[in-house]
Amino acid sequence: MQSPWEYPDFDDHEIVHFVHDRASGLRAIIAVHSTHLGPGAGGVRFWNYAETGDALRDALRLSRGMSYKNAMAGLPLGGGKAVILSDEARTKTPEMLAAYGQAVEKLSGSYVTAEDVGITVADLDAVSKHTRFIAGLPVGEGEVGGDPGPHTSYGVFLGIKAAVRRALGKDSLAGLHIAMQGAGSVAGGVARRAAAEGARISLTDIDRSRAYRLAAEVGASVVAPEEIISLEADIFSPNALGAILTEETIAGLNVPIVAGGANNQLATPQDGQRIHQRGILYAPDYVINAGGIINVSSEYLRDADAAGVKSRVEQVPVRLEQIWSESASTGRNPAEVADDMAKRLIGR
Ligand code: NAD
Repeated sequence: MQSPWEYPDFDDHEIVHFVHDRASGLRAIIAVHSTHLGPGAGGVRFWNYAETGDALRDALRLSRGMSYKNAMAGLPLGGGKAVILSDEARTKTPEMLAAYGQAVEKLSGSYVTAEDVGITVADLDAVSKHTRFIAGLPVGEGEVGGDPGPHTSYGVFLGIKAAVRRALGKDSLAGLHIAMQGAGSVAGGVARRAAAEGARISLTDIDRSRAYRLAAEVGASVVAPEEIISLEADIFSPNALGAILTEETIAGLNVPIVAGGANNQLATPQDGQRIHQRGILYAPDYVINAGGIINVSSEYLRDADAAGVKSRVEQVPVRLEQIWSESASTGRNPAEVADDMAKRLIGR
C-alpha cells in the first residue's frame, strides 16, 4: 500500500484525522491542509469509495483545493475537507451524523464543516446539534447564509463578463453565444442573468427535463450532452461536473473563452497549459466559483451583511483580472498563475 505521505495531494497537509465510531459505524477522514489564514473550512462529502485510499485521496485533493479557493477569495479561512465513507447501500443514520458532529467538535474549530456531495441541508442540521464549527445551515429571510448557489452564480456571471471584456473587448453579453454545460443551480443563475443581458444560450443537461425547463425559462436552445463542448460559441461555460477539460476535449473546443462554475474542470494540471496554447482564455475554476464560499464564510464569521457579501463576490472579476494580467506578462497559463498566487497567500 502506498504511504499516505507519498500521495501527490498530501502536499504537506497540516493534519489528517481518521475517525471511527464503533457504535454508529461512522468512518470518516477529516483533512486540514492549511490553517495559515484561519480555520480549515470546507464541506463534508458522503460517498461510497471502492478503497480507503480513494477516500483519502479525495479528502486530500479537496482539502488543498479549499485552501487555494479560500485564499484567493480573500477570506480569513484555511482549507479543510471531510469525507464520510459510506457502505454500498449509502446507509446514513442519525447516530452516524451525530458521531460526525462530535468528531468535528473535538477538533476545537481547526476544521469548519459544511455541505458537499451526498449531504443535505437536513443532514447538516442534524450535525449542527453536535458542533459549533459548522456553516451552510438554513437561515431566515434577510439573514446572511444558506444556499450558496445564487452567490456562486453571481460570481460566475461577473467572471464571464470580465473574460468577455478581456478576450473580446466587449462590455456586454448582448448578442454573444454561450454554450452552457449543466442546467442546475449554478447554471440556472448564470443563464438567467446572461439572458437578461441579451446573450444567446445553448445548453445541455443529462437530465433532459431540467434542460428543457431552464431553456424555456431563458429562451435557450437545448443540445445533446455530447455536443456542448465542441459547439461553436463565444463562451463555453462548464457548470456540471469536473474533469471535463481533457487533452481530447480541449482539442475540440470552438470558443475563445472557457469560464464556468464547475469544480476541478481540468482533468490534469497539463490541461491548463493545453487550453492556453490554443489561445483560449481560461477562468480558473476555484477563483470564478468562490461566491458560494464567500457567503458561507460570512454566515460562519458573522462579519458581513448581505450588501457586504455582494461586494465581496464582486471582487471575483478583480482577482481574475490579476491572474490574466500576470499570465499575459509572464506567458504562463492562468491555472498555474492562480495556483502560485494561492500558494504565496498561504505561505507555501
Ligand atoms: P446541481 O446538481 O444543481 O447541477 C448540476 C447539473 O449538472 C445537474 O442538473 C446534472 O444533471 C448536470 N450534469 C451532470 N453531469 C452532466 C453532464 N455530463 N452533462 C451535462 N449535464 C450534467 O449542481 P450545482 O450546485 O449547480 O453545481 C454545479 C457545479 O458547480 C458542480 O461542479 C459544483 O461542484 C460546482 N460548484 C457549485 C457551487 C454552489 O454554490 N452550488 C459552488 C462552487 C462550485
